[in-house]
Amino acid sequence: MVFVCSGCGSFHFQPVGTKTITLHGQKYTPSVGPPVDRKCSICGRSFKMCGPIWSHKLHDKDFIQKTVQHIEVENSLYNTSKRMVGMLNVVLEELEDFPLFHRIEQLSSILHVKAPSSNEIRQVSLVTSCSNALNSKFNS
Ligand SMILES: [Zn+2]
Repeated sequence: MVFVCSGCGSFHFQPVGTKTITLHGQKYTPSVGPPVDRKCSICGRSFKMCGPIWSHKLHDKDFIQKTVQHIEVENSLYNTSKRMVGMLNVVLEELEDFPLFHRIEQLSSILHVKAPSSNEIRQVSLVTSCSNALNSKFNS
């Protein structure tokens, strides 16, 4: 679950449960929460509860890398090998620990500043090496 502030848009994750490794195997228990107070510590507004969402890694990058290597070696087996490798490389470039993202327009609205253009964001992202994360989230 996710608690999203109705004022500033900050969000906090609430796992549905936790997994514990024991001597006899694995144990699953429900989480204790909520992870936030009734009011946002940043802006004082209330939270909306959203979800459920998957908040952990989506991909096993080692498996994807091995799949790319297999496709490149055995490319004659697949009619769409170039496209497959391209899509898998996009997945490999995705950031792992960011299940949600902020919209620049929303952040600009909260801060009461003019939203930067897509070109300005791309220029900054290239300098800061975040181009893949931003490019996958913005439409041109
Ligand atoms: Zn807030």
